[in-house]
Amino acid sequence: MKERKRIYLSPPHMSGKEYLKIEEAFKSNWIAPLGPLVNEFEQAVAHYAGVKAGAALSSGTAAIHLALKLIGVQKGDMVFCSTLTFVATANPILYEQATPVFIDSEKDTWNMCPLALEKAFEESKRLGKRPRAVIVVHLYGQSAKMDEIMALCEAYDVPVIEDAAESLGALYKGEKSGSMGRFGVYSFNGNKIITTSGGGMLVSDDEAAIERCRFLASQARERAMHYEHQEIGYNYRMSNLLAGVGIAQMEILDERVEQKRHIFKRYHDALSKVEGLYFMPEYQNTKSNRWLTTLTIDCEKQTSPVDIIAALEKEQIEARRVWKPLHQQPLFRDCLFYSAAKGTPVSELLFETGLCLPSGTSMTEAEQDRIIDILRHALREKTIPSSQAAHS
Ligand SMILES: *Cc1c(COP(=O)(O)O)cnc(C)c1O
Repeated sequence: MKERKRIYLSPPHMSGKEYLKIEEAFKSNWIAPLGPLVNEFEQAVAHYAGVKAGAALSSGTAAIHLALKLIGVQKGDMVFCSTLTFVATANPILYEQATPVFIDSEKDTWNMCPLALEKAFEESKRLGKRPRAVIVVHLYGQSAKMDEIMALCEAYDVPVIEDAAESLGALYKGEKSGSMGRFGVYSFNGNKIITTSGGGMLVSDDEAAIERCRFLASQARERAMHYEHQEIGYNYRMSNLLAGVGIAQMEILDERVEQKRHIFKRYHDALSKVEGLYFMPEYQNTKSNRWLTTLTIDCEKQTSPVDIIAALEKEQIEARRVWKPLHQQPLFRDCLFYSAAKGTPVSELLFETGLCLPSGTSMTEAEQDRIIDILRHALREKTIPSSQAAHS
């Protein structure tokens, strides 16, 4: 029997032009760390984001870590952080022995809830404390409510780090996701909308801070003829070779965004009228990059996400649940958590009911149709009567 090719959630998708850039690096023998392609890649990303500077790093996690260092987060400091996210958002807080405080999501964007954030600020103030930084995540390509979040953080005079690892190419009121806080973080990991196989970037309008980021990321080597060191450094720089891949990938970023949005639209057109399925919303005045097509399922009316994932797995198709909130992770069991919800926190509901569908831009329409077919079979085939269906 012919083996069917496995369909992954969001595999890397090369344009084919990456080779030319890598060849450039080989021809000039600029294989090892740093070099002209790193500079070119940094400029391309900074220009795209509409910010002054960027530092190409070995990962998005490294970028978050150095953003915390640049802000001056120290042992015992509080850092407010979105709870509904990948663990990489919060691990760097622990690297610095600082204390994460998790903030619940709201339903419009699934991201940090401004009301919960306000509650966290007020309560901390009563205790005579103030966080050193706020890390806000733009999940699955949907920007958080930045106006409200930035206004609160400005009122309390706390810098914002945007974890835009999943939202490169997304817009918030015309502004690029990742360009609004003091620092923005992008990831070029293999599963992200564009990739260098592994890598990240820290961007900011603060050019001096980005220059210092480059210094910390190259072992904090002082300017001297010999090797001189005054402080702790890291080996966090991106190699010149991978920056070449990144340059070629940046050229097709906007195309990838449209492809991701098209994948979302095809799922939506096929399944939005099925009872008990709700696609992740796109908030007013924002444009999501739809990194992953994500939805929630009303388990009283429908097959559970776990059963749907199992049904797809049987057919060699990878689907995933939504991130498990960090305040529910054993690693963070002692951390404070703020929610504005009356009952169950929004992030916990999203975890219980959420499902991420295969969203690779290299997926063919035939492959997607097959996935939709399997979903239709796995779901209870009730559709909303057309009189009740939302008109789009
Ligand atoms: C992927 C991801 C990261 C980490 O990026 P790496 O480049 O893999 O270190 C951070 N935050 C979020 C939300 C992510 O999805």
